[in-house]
Amino acid sequence: MSLDNTQSIVEDSPITSELIQKYEKLFTLTPEKMRSIVDAFVETLKRGLEQYGQVVPMIPAFVFGWPTGEETGDYLALDLGGTNLRVCLVTLSGGGKFDIKQKKYRLTEEQKQMEGSLLFDFCADSLSAFLESAQAEGTIKAGAELPMGFTFSYPCQQDRIDHGILIRWTKGFGNPNVEGFDVTQLFADSLKKHNVPVSLTALVNDTTGALIASHYTNPRTRIGVILGTGCNAAYAERVGNIPKMKDLGIPDDTLMSINCEWGAFDSFEHKHLPRTKYDEIIDLTSNKPHEQAFEKCISGRYLGEIFRLVMKELIDEGVIFLGKDTSKLNEEYCFDTAYLSTMESDMTPELLTIVSVFSQHYKIETTLAERQFFKALANLIGTRSARLASCGMAAIVKKLDILDEGCSIGIDGSLYDMYPGFKERIHEGLTDIFGEKGKNVVTHHAEDGSGLGSAIIAAMTKTRKDKGFF
Ligand code: BGC
Ligand code: MG
Repeated sequence: MSLDNTQSIVEDSPITSELIQKYEKLFTLTPEKMRSIVDAFVETLKRGLEQYGQVVPMIPAFVFGWPTGEETGDYLALDLGGTNLRVCLVTLSGGGKFDIKQKKYRLTEEQKQMEGSLLFDFCADSLSAFLESAQAEGTIKAGAELPMGFTFSYPCQQDRIDHGILIRWTKGFGNPNVEGFDVTQLFADSLKKHNVPVSLTALVNDTTGALIASHYTNPRTRIGVILGTGCNAAYAERVGNIPKMKDLGIPDDTLMSINCEWGAFDSFEHKHLPRTKYDEIIDLTSNKPHEQAFEKCISGRYLGEIFRLVMKELIDEGVIFLGKDTSKLNEEYCFDTAYLSTMESDMTPELLTIVSVFSQHYKIETTLAERQFFKALANLIGTRSARLASCGMAAIVKKLDILDEGCSIGIDGSLYDMYPGFKERIHEGLTDIFGEKGKNVVTHHAEDGSGLGSAIIAAMTKTRKDKGFF
């Protein structure tokens, strides 16, 4: 019998077709289930717009309207993301043109847990080093105080553009003494301590940055989404549709960017998402049990861990890796989400890339049947993620009532950019939810929201302030 990777699992292996069906059943989302998630999601979005303090907080980002494309000047952007700290010098030259110079530092696990003030000191230090070398190269004039956008990709309650109180850490961060504090103040303290001559103009969520940067180059953009280490979306809402802001005296037809923080959908109650026991384990063993329920089923930080937990179960049941030393798979989060995408890309008959994932990183020899199963499992986990993400996007489209006119969604993040077939699965999800009309919603790769977007927002803020608006 010849074997290839499209063929179902080899006979007389402990991996039976019933086994695959079991996981298919656990991870597959029917169109009907998706539609019911979308309906609950729309209600959740509305609740967040009505009242403060909701689980999905629908945070007004104090970014008004759209960029004109004519914003100009030099701006700094500091991007504290889930994986990297990045410092950018962004030059906007008008006509939608721009240039970015940047430096990237990978964050260590230790940095994600150390005292909050030390994390901000690290940001200030990196910015200071970047400025010094840019001045030495002559790209920035000495003594020039450039406006800066601070992209901080965690939920912050804002009552103006240059303030924000961290509601909760996400994506495994846990630095003490930051939750409940104004992060712009903490950062300003570090800048002062290090004598860094920078003024923080705007505090920006990465999704708001993605929304604005994408609109800058593609005006059909109505929604910005991040599908990376974390996941979230932002869109522009009429102030008249944000009941919780009605006392601020902002005209009803003003457009305000909303950072949804949709990763929190179905947190605590767990009523809507079809969570598996692996999702529950991830949740309960995380540093934030019960929080970010939607994000934990979707984002890059968690998919590899879901996969690892299924493997652990099958090792314990004596189904895979019989007689092998599997100790290297014991450590939490040791199975990188990037491997799921590597496995799904493997089109060789013997699945040789999968051979090397296991032999190189975990010193485990695999059978072909195991590799076929792993590829199928990666597909199930990756597909569920994409389809859930499309539920969130569909909910915003429905809330805005723009299905007929259609729109484009700017998406950034490693899942959308690197995971094979992720984009197609999102689109399939949208047609499963909306039927043929789902095709009116298209997606495109968002411009760098955390760098470019943050700079454009700093520019928009400056213009607004120069004109005397708040
Ligand atoms: C954060 C969001 C962020 C998203 C993508 C989530 O964990 O709560 O603020 O936009 O990750 O980076
Ligand atoms: Mg980022």
